[in-house]
Order: sequence, then C-alpha cells, then structure tokens
Amino acid sequence: MDKKIAMERTIYVGDREIELVCPICGGKKFFDRKTLMNTVGMTFFDLDWANPEATNFICEDCSYIFWFMEDLSVGPKKDRPLTRAEEYEISFRNHSNDALYKILNGKGYNDDAKAAAKNLLRQRKMPV
Ligand SMILES: [Zn+2]
Repeated sequence: MDKKIAMERTIYVGDREIELVCPICGGKKFFDRKTLMNTVGMTFFDLDWANPEATNFICEDCSYIFWFMEDLSVGPKKDRPLTRAEEYEISFRNHSNDALYKILNGKGYNDDAKAAAKNLLRQRKMPV
C-alpha cells in the first residue's frame, strides 16, 4: 500500500515562495497526489493541455483538496532541509509493515532509520 507522508508545502510562483495553508482549518501539512484531468467528469477541461494532469494537495487534518493545473515546484520549505529521519521516511514509505518492523527492531540500523520506521508504523496505526 502506498501510504504517503503529509508535509509542509511551498508553492513557487515566479520568484515568490508561498507557504500552503489550508483555508478551512489552517492546517499546514498536505499529502500530494496527481490526477489526470481527462477522466470521467473532467471532460470540460480543454484537453489540448500539454499535460492534462493536476497536482492535488490534500489537507492532513480536514482533507480539503487544492487543485493546481501545473506542476509547480513544490516541496518542503527551502530554508529547512530535510532531516536524516525525514529522508529515511520518504525512502521507506513503500516498505511493508514487516520490513519497517525489521528496521525498527533489527541490528545495524542507525537511530534516524529506526525513528523513520517508527513514525511510518505510527502513521499506519500499527503498534510500536
Ligand atoms: Zn484543512
């Protein structure tokens, strides 16, 4: 199962950096998703778009969905580089629960890797 990680998002518009904030609940962490626009019910969009794919950001707290027609350069805030644990978390996110438990309980994994595995298991509501 592809469980994604909600994180802070920065939208780059020209040379402006805009932090994405949910207009409904004020949340600042969002899951991302790509949606093809030429799916059922979306045919009112002009399919001459070079890339008829939208980028969605979904609020972690209230599930409000943002829609962007272009693939903006988005990601964690520039002035806060990812921690090692966050980098591990991103690379582990397609791991099975078993694989995560192996990292968490196994020898030879560093503390950052264990913290990442633990965090992912928590997000999946698994006992840790
Ligand atoms: Zn929200």
